[in-house]
Amino acid sequence: MIRRITLSLLLLTAVALVFALVTVIILPGQTAEAAGGKVTDPLGVAPQRYAYFPGTEELGRDEIRLIACGTGMPSARRSQAATCFLVELGNGDKLLFDIGSGSHANLQGLMIPADFLTKIFLTHLHTDHWGDLTSLWAGGWTAGRTGPLQVWGPSGAREDMGTAYAVKNMLKAYNWDYMTRAAIINPAPGEIKVTEFDYKGVNEVIYQENGVTIRSWPAIHAGDGPISFSLEWNGYKVVIGGDTAPNKWFLEYAKDADLAVHEAFMTSKTFVEKYGQPPQLAARINLTFHTSAQAFGKIMSTVRPRHAVAYHFFNDEDTRYQVYEGIRETYDGPLSMADDNMVWNITRDKITERMVISPDDAWDVPGPNRPLPPDRSRKSEYTKFTLEGRFDTSDVDGVWLKSFMEEYGLTEEDLKGGE
Ligand SMILES: [Zn+2]
Ligand SMILES: [Zn+2]
Repeated sequence: MIRRITLSLLLLTAVALVFALVTVIILPGQTAEAAGGKVTDPLGVAPQRYAYFPGTEELGRDEIRLIACGTGMPSARRSQAATCFLVELGNGDKLLFDIGSGSHANLQGLMIPADFLTKIFLTHLHTDHWGDLTSLWAGGWTAGRTGPLQVWGPSGAREDMGTAYAVKNMLKAYNWDYMTRAAIINPAPGEIKVTEFDYKGVNEVIYQENGVTIRSWPAIHAGDGPISFSLEWNGYKVVIGGDTAPNKWFLEYAKDADLAVHEAFMTSKTFVEKYGQPPQLAARINLTFHTSAQAFGKIMSTVRPRHAVAYHFFNDEDTRYQVYEGIRETYDGPLSMADDNMVWNITRDKITERMVISPDDAWDVPGPNRPLPPDRSRKSEYTKFTLEGRFDTSDVDGVWLKSFMEEYGLTEEDLKGGE
């Protein structure tokens, strides 16, 4: 009897000990996660909660990361670039949707090697949606991109209103940039391959590779041509709406989206009072070629995505709440009021919204491929006239050059190209 009691006591003590251990070891961890982190030791580090620090977090194989590199208006401002969304998939693909003016600097802050940023999908040809294509084109070239950029974009009602025409003539305008860079670096990264697809295509596949399917459907915005995109991968669907008035196609084809991005414009009153626009135009903006906050809400209430994202408004203290309240009149589901550097992680169980914390002074990051050597068959872009103006500094340059060549094992041949 006594033995049995002792055994029971021992058992009870053991159970109590285990319980205590579980309480001490596991519960604080859970509490910390739930509360967003707690530092219990002077040398401890606060677990990160609301921030995404690029380059510190692996993407799950079954996960999508979407980053807003631009969410603003055509008017340039340091705090908000124009439209650009980067979609990163767990299969390693990185796809850019629009690259509006000013957005390249935000993209650079993510410190992604240039060879991984070569696929760009354009919703339409307003500068606030593709103005930084030139910046990515040239900046990625000097950063060591080894191949061409690839651009997918809509046709227009006429040939001169389509993406192929726009990119071809952009390159013509930047001929001096192309010719000089091609002579000094290498011509291959200076090429842009364009796939122009029919803007009238309704939910047509415009891209299918590596398990990713991208479709487009028409938008109603300022003229024929603009479209919206959906991306399907691994059972997920992400919708990136370009500029548009509310349209029937979005209602139908954005359905079942895990995350749906759509524009929501500032109120017409804001356009008059803060933007200085005539009231006639301010009313038409929200009625004929963009989408009001209330209309955005009505659209999302119909589409019912797992998570809705509103963008294309100045996200300031005195403007965001008017847009937010307008949306909340007609939509009560999950919502992000997008700002630059907002990041969403999409998994089966949850969609999180955080902010990217990235350096203002980001440098290019080398990728796995060695930059291409200069193409020595290319002719120099100098004539004798300019070259004869060269002031001879070979005596002073010779000093640092000697040790530089020794350090990197360079030969005289390596120094040729571009002269
Ligand atoms: Zn536009
Ligand atoms: Zn726009």
